[in-house]
Amino acid sequence: MSRHRNVRGYNYDEDFEDDDMYGQSVDDDYCCISPATANQFIYSRQERQAPKEENIMSVTNLSVVAKLYSCLDHMRAVLGDAVPDSVLSQAAIRYGFDPQRALDAVLVHFVPLFSLAKSRDASHNKLDSEVVPKVARMTVSGKKQTMGFDVPRYLTPLHSNITGENGGVTASVRRGASPENATITATTEPSAAPTPGRSSGKSRQAINVKAELEKRQGGKPLLNLVVIGHVDAGKSTLMGHLLYLLGNVNKRTMHKYEQESKKAGKASFAYAWVLDETGEERDRGVTMDVGMTKFETSSKVVTLMDAPGHKDFIPNMITGAAQADVAVLVVDASRGEFEAGFEAGGQTREHALLVRSLGVTQLAVAVNKMDQVNWQQERFQEITSKLGHFLKQAGFKESDVFYIPTSGLSGENLATRSSVAQLTSWYSGPSLLEQIDAFKSPQRSVDKPFRLCVSDVFKDQGSGFCVTGKIEAGYIQTGDRILAMPPNETCTVKGITLHDEALDWAAAGDHVSLTVTGMDIIKINVGCVFCDPKEPIRVCTRFRARILLFNIEVPITQGFPVLLHYQTVSEPATIRKLISVLHKSSGEVLKKKPKCLNKGMNAIVEIQTQRPVSLELYKDYKELGRFMLRYVGSTIAAGVVTEVKCK
Ligand code: GDP
Repeated sequence: MSRHRNVRGYNYDEDFEDDDMYGQSVDDDYCCISPATANQFIYSRQERQAPKEENIMSVTNLSVVAKLYSCLDHMRAVLGDAVPDSVLSQAAIRYGFDPQRALDAVLVHFVPLFSLAKSRDASHNKLDSEVVPKVARMTVSGKKQTMGFDVPRYLTPLHSNITGENGGVTASVRRGASPENATITATTEPSAAPTPGRSSGKSRQAINVKAELEKRQGGKPLLNLVVIGHVDAGKSTLMGHLLYLLGNVNKRTMHKYEQESKKAGKASFAYAWVLDETGEERDRGVTMDVGMTKFETSSKVVTLMDAPGHKDFIPNMITGAAQADVAVLVVDASRGEFEAGFEAGGQTREHALLVRSLGVTQLAVAVNKMDQVNWQQERFQEITSKLGHFLKQAGFKESDVFYIPTSGLSGENLATRSSVAQLTSWYSGPSLLEQIDAFKSPQRSVDKPFRLCVSDVFKDQGSGFCVTGKIEAGYIQTGDRILAMPPNETCTVKGITLHDEALDWAAAGDHVSLTVTGMDIIKINVGCVFCDPKEPIRVCTRFRARILLFNIEVPITQGFPVLLHYQTVSEPATIRKLISVLHKSSGEVLKKKPKCLNKGMNAIVEIQTQRPVSLELYKDYKELGRFMLRYVGSTIAAGVVTEVKCK
């Protein structure tokens, strides 16, 4: 089994020196787990158990026993307690106590099955949705087609060369709906040499974007908000009801939802349907994975992204969270329900960690369904103290987390302060809307070179085609030439739409739809980054990163396969090298070239993607330098890019 990857004839081993050290230069402002928690998970040699007797029955000779123990020692150093003793002993005996061969055999034959079986039990086939994430759809002549990822079932054994015999096929079917598309993307090599940009039409100097931004929307800044939380916490009901109270849904439509939901035997879902319907409407034109809608507070215009809460939807949620400035975390206050969402297997923790890792720092926690617990102050305090402790560990500042007791169903404390006596006797704080209004507006990187991550591609009427996405940096005007990476193709911006309104320009922070011409739609995929041709984004298949490992079941070893989630991209990758283990807060190197990485560790690793991805260094563009790693249905790590290897 080769530990060295050779992608498209390029031997990457020469590029990085193993002794290069990173980490200290990276801001430590992404989510973290306390050293105490981390220590809990570090493998303890003393606690190891000797192999069971039945497994060593045939081993009588003492020196053979010594060899067996030494071999098991080696294997456990890599695998920890993830694999039962019986399996390790059998492999050790079968491979003549050669630790490397025995380890390889266990990793190839056993670990994938073990973790697959476990994850299937845990999440009812969540694998399917993980490996075939719905990234976006394409509307061609009014018909939807899958434009996103059709990754084959992820049954590649651990450590198999996924860029090799498997990789060709995988790459060729993944990014495109059609084989032609697939071939183009698969054979596209990264290139940092762009076609020089030309600005046609209006000159860029004609608009003072900063001044225009201040004037826009009646001077109200834009805020991108994502709603997260465990399934059934009441996210859709809460936001649907809020939109209704704000007048975004008229009475007649609401009545229709009520009737329809009653007929369907789901009367309590009437408000949740507000968001579903919004999604459907959007299906006719612009389609977003994470349904989006807009509402206004007294000082802000808010783009709302409803994140589905089920585990299966996490890949989509990442797309929403990656584009959010702030988040509303909805938790169910009912007895037993909060606990179910918060304990292992619930999404409350994972979602909170995800948004923090993706750069969200301000959080409103809607302690929802308070009607179910008679608006009890004790229950509210119990939940806020449990959550508060965890959120602090996850890296949220206490002063940036706000708890609001709500009832999405009755509408209490959503748009206006509640008058329910049981609540007002102990709560005099803001309503959810007031809190959203009070969030600090994020700083937009308007001065940096233009960057837009594509979250959807579709064909509209007229010439050209449309792409949607969030402008992460810089600004754009109609008539501008922009460069798409990795395809390295330029096109002209014919139209810009923000919240269904045609505009001449848009800037960092805006979720826009661009109509572009001069480029074949087939070359553009979800995950492409449009950028300034004069200052293009880097493209690579290899980069180094500082990662924080979450609650992982299997230790990470060299060659570990992962799904890299980065902005709107979901890309198969491998952990190619383990460079060093770092101290969580000081960034000091604790160990060079570790054999494996365990729960809670902070480390520098080198990641190899199957196909080129567009990345920035975290220190240059925070928004474009963060990513998440997932493995068979779970998020296993968050990371920041510290070095990009451009070809
Ligand atoms: P989501 O999965 O988080 O979007 O949750 P939904 O909005 O679909 O709500 C799940 C269920 O909880 C539905 O039956 C809702 O009617 C119910 N629900 C939502 N909010 C409340 C609330 O504040 N009080 C009560 N009693 N039920 C609620």
